[in-house]
Amino acid sequence: MKTVYLALGSNLGDKLQHLNDALARLPKAGLELVAVSAVYETRAMYHTDQPDFFNIALEARTAVLPKVLLRRMQAIERELGRRRVLVNGPRTIDIDILLYGRFVIRSNDLEVPHPRIEERRFVLEPLAEIAPTLRHPVSKRSIAELLAAVKDQPVHKTQHRLALIAEPRP
Ligand code: ADP
Ligand code: MG
Repeated sequence: MKTVYLALGSNLGDKLQHLNDALARLPKAGLELVAVSAVYETRAMYHTDQPDFFNIALEARTAVLPKVLLRRMQAIERELGRRRVLVNGPRTIDIDILLYGRFVIRSNDLEVPHPRIEERRFVLEPLAEIAPTLRHPVSKRSIAELLAAVKDQPVHKTQHRLALIAEPRP
């Protein structure tokens, strides 16, 4: 079993519902949820003329190998109605694999640690809530340290919390 960290984001339709629906599908995909951050509201970063995002980060345990995990997360994105129209454009749900244990993977379809963790406060802020002392396996800097470097980006912690849905016991 490895500890993995995921980032989920939504900025179309019922954003909370999309995050909830994605979360509810994770146990079946082989992820045992350990911690889920509060919901953060963030301004879109790259194409700024699109709705604000709701973002969360979560920690999970899994035995599913990285590439299989990526495929399963993409299947959930498709199930929840995501259409890839524009890179970094509006989406019902986006699921990114931030960290997978201490693995470093650099392939065409999968890069772990996710290459843009350090530039994204909307990833670092929720991640720091659940794992501030966690160290980035390449830069070796803690999440709290990385967060301090992107404090200028507007990110707002909301009152919303998603239920931590445990795997049904046998
Ligand atoms: P973004 O998340 O950057 O807005 P997409 O969700 O459309 O963009 O993903 C684009 C591509 O990123 C996917 O086809 C996927 O193969 C690739 N990718 C590379 N590394 C990762 C990762 N760690 N987690 C999720 N997707 C990744
Ligand atoms: Mg993505």
